[in-house]
Order: sequence, then C-alpha cells, then structure tokens
Amino acid sequence: MNIMKKKGGGCVVGKKIVLILIDSLMPHILREAQERELVPALSLMMSRGAYWNNCATIFPTMSASVDASLITGVYPEEHRIPGLVWYSRKERRIVNYINGSKSVWRIGVKKCTQDVLIEMNEKHMSRDVSTLFEEVTRRGKTSASFNFAAHRGPHYYRVQKPGLSKLFLAGLLSAQVSGPEICTVGKFIDSTFLRSLRWNFSHTIFHKYGLNDRFAVDAVCKLIREGKLPHVTFVYMPDMDYAYHRNPERGPQILARADRYIQRLLDSFGNADEAFKQCKFIVVGDHGQTKIGIEKEATINVEQHLLGMKIARAENIQPEIDDIVICNNERMCYFYPLKEGVQQETVKRLLMDLRIDILAWKEGRGVWIGHGGQTLFFAPGQDIHDQYGRQWKAKGDFSIIDAVLGENPEDGTPVISFGRYPDLFSRLYGALYAQEGEVIVATAQPGCEFFTPSDPVHRGGASHGSLHEMDSIVSLIITDESPDRFSKPRIVDIKSYILRDLC
Ligand SMILES: [Zn+2]
Repeated sequence: MNIMKKKGGGCVVGKKIVLILIDSLMPHILREAQERELVPALSLMMSRGAYWNNCATIFPTMSASVDASLITGVYPEEHRIPGLVWYSRKERRIVNYINGSKSVWRIGVKKCTQDVLIEMNEKHMSRDVSTLFEEVTRRGKTSASFNFAAHRGPHYYRVQKPGLSKLFLAGLLSAQVSGPEICTVGKFIDSTFLRSLRWNFSHTIFHKYGLNDRFAVDAVCKLIREGKLPHVTFVYMPDMDYAYHRNPERGPQILARADRYIQRLLDSFGNADEAFKQCKFIVVGDHGQTKIGIEKEATINVEQHLLGMKIARAENIQPEIDDIVICNNERMCYFYPLKEGVQQETVKRLLMDLRIDILAWKEGRGVWIGHGGQTLFFAPGQDIHDQYGRQWKAKGDFSIIDAVLGENPEDGTPVISFGRYPDLFSRLYGALYAQEGEVIVATAQPGCEFFTPSDPVHRGGASHGSLHEMDSIVSLIITDESPDRFSKPRIVDIKSYILRDLC
C-alpha cells in the first residue's frame, strides 16, 4: 500500500508518519555539521523533501511548554503548561517538571517526578484541547510516543519505579497515566511493549532509566523490524540538549551523534530508500540555546533586585506572609506577586537592569512590555495583523521589540513584522495568559541567564528559555514536502499538518 501519489494537502497515500524531535536542534549547528559532512542521515532527509531554517517555537523556550504545544497545536494560554517551572496559585506550590537537581531536591524528588510523569498530562494540560494522539485515535488510526513528556492519549499505563529510583520515589502515587497505543517514558511507565524490549545499559540509572536517545531509537527500531510501526510515531531524542548545555563549542559533533541514531533508524527498514518508501519523516527541534558568558555579570541574581521583599521559599510557600514567588526557567524568569503593590515595585526595580532583555506583565487584558525607559502595550484586537495571521491592537515604542509596523501592499492593512523576537505577540501572550493572576516575565540578554539559589547555572556553557531568536528558531525537515508548504513554520502548525496528512 505504498502508492506514491499526492492527494490534497500533501498527503502521500499509505505512508506512515515518523516525527523525530532532537532537543536543541538549531539551524546554524545543522548547517555547520553539513558543511563538515558530519550528518549524512539528516542531509539525506533534507534532499528527499523540504527544509526550513526559520521554524518558530513556543515561549518559554523550554521543552515542557514546547512539547505541549507540539501535541495540542495551540499556544500555552490554551493548553495551560506555562513552562518547565511555574507557580500554581490554586495549589499554592511550585510545579517543577524536573529542572535543576538542587531545586528538585528542595521541592522533593517525589513531588517533581509526580508532576512530570502524571500531573502534567492528566491534570495541568487543559481538557479543553485535544492532543494529536487523541485525534489520531478518533480517526481510527494508531500512534506511538517514545519518551515525549507530553503524551496524553486514550490508553492508560501504570507508573512504575525502576531499579534504585524506588529509594527516591517511595510513596509516589501508583497512579495511571495516559498515552497512545504504544507509549514509553523511559522505564517509568509499564507496558507490554516495554517488557518486550531487550535490556541494555541505556535502561539503567546511569542513563536516566531510558530517558536517552539510544533507548528511544532502540524501541522504534524494534517496531520497524517487526513491521508494527503505527500510523504516527513520535520519537524524542534528549541527548543533544544535555551535551550542548555544557559544551556549545562542539555543537556539530554533538549533532553527529544524534545523526548516527537516525541512520540506525533508517537502516532498520532494510535501507534508507525503503524507509522513505514506507514513511514520511518530520525532524524538528524544540528550542535553540544561547552561549552564556564566563564572567560573573553573565548571571543575573534576581533576588538582589528584590531586597526587602519576602521571597517565598520554593519548598514552603505561604501566600499570607510572602511577597513574591520566583520561578527560574534559565534565560527567562517568572515572578508572581502575592501582595498588592508588589508587581509595580518589582517592575520598577527590574527595569533598571539592562541585562534584562524583555520585561513584560499582564494588565488590562493585554501585555505591557518595558525596556529601559520605553514601553509598549499590546492585546488581542483587530487593528494590526502579524506575519502569522493573528490580529492585535498595540501602542508604544515598537523598537524595543525590534518590530516594524508596515502595510499590506494589497489592502493597506497594518502589518507588524517581528525581527529578533519571532512571533513575539502570540508567544508572550501565551505564556502570561496560561496562568491566573498577576505574572511578570523577564528574559535575559544574549550571553546572560538568571540566577536563583538551587537552580542550575551554565556559566561558560549555554542555556535557553528566552524570546530571542537564538533560543526561539529551530530547524524543520519534512520529507515528501515542498518548501512552499510553509513560509514561516511554527511548532503550533505541526499537529494540524500531521492530521491533514493522515490518509
Ligand atoms: Zn536544556
């Protein structure tokens, strides 16, 4: 049933879809790796379809919010996953989907594991939006998710505690978590498929119990060899992120390791031609990364700006006593004022630090942005179109967001073009309105990141989280596709693209 015939919006009849997400896949690293002939499998995929070096991701540029947007096709204001670390006013606690071993230790390993394994999919992600895996089932097709953090679907799996993790996770709810027909989160959820995988070192505590490239690729290769690949398969490869954080100078070599796994995946079909005959491949990044300076000033110590305020302790928040909660997402930071007047005072103090790139806060159903002495306000409206087809009203200094207001040559309607901060209005609005109550967002200038005690620092390495294009633009490869399918692709476009293509 592999009829090579295009139908409607790019559907190639009979082909299965395999999406591979390489964490931190960036266009400039891919280009450099190609020039040095380090990535033959990715180069082959690019030659068999289309490549975009301008795919805009979600804000904050952290995997949790990006994964949720990828599988729901909407911005965070609809799916309600605001970042990797955020404050739940309802539960009066910080939600941490595992970032930073010290802060996870303070909040509690069990609590954070429960958040990422269970609550994110079953509780935090809005039930008003559907996931790709749910939609695929509704169409009578099958799907698989290998190690995606966001994987809500129609089937239920029991959470398990592999090996020594029992020591840290004692008391973790033996709850069920949902997913597609085939679903792995390393060895943390139990399934018939997982039990059939042959053991190797990638399953052990030393390799995060299967939350690594080898485990995910081994699993999908097994399905391919057995001829059991479902209609849609998502494969998450995290290793590039870990390695690039520490050693950004070796980006092309780090990507070459991911490429060797992708080559193995293609070879498991017998050969690459057979792989392309049976499948359409989508390869995409989730966010970029920006190098962080080695000097002390590269880390913005936000608590120093809030001297005199009662900053909540991550492990024990007391809204009656505390003034403010801080949630550090590396190159972006959330501030949650708990008392009247604290938002105004926090904004005033943070605006003085010019290492803060964009400072934004909710007000009047819109968003205020400040930098130095300039401000800009925007809100959903009908006055201005952006390059992605959404409509807004805005007033103020557009230069602080590197945007230009022009006119559509055909009908004269005002159009805003974003520069260094791609898709800025939708992304910033999405992060702020994913949450109830007052929220302030700060992003760091290139070369800098935020510092709060217990959270990871990457001085001399790289990190991400901000709205800047370095963190926000990812590579997108789609085989059997033409470059004119998208002029400015976004992560939120991929779900509807796959569903249209499913035939
Ligand atoms: Zn990272």
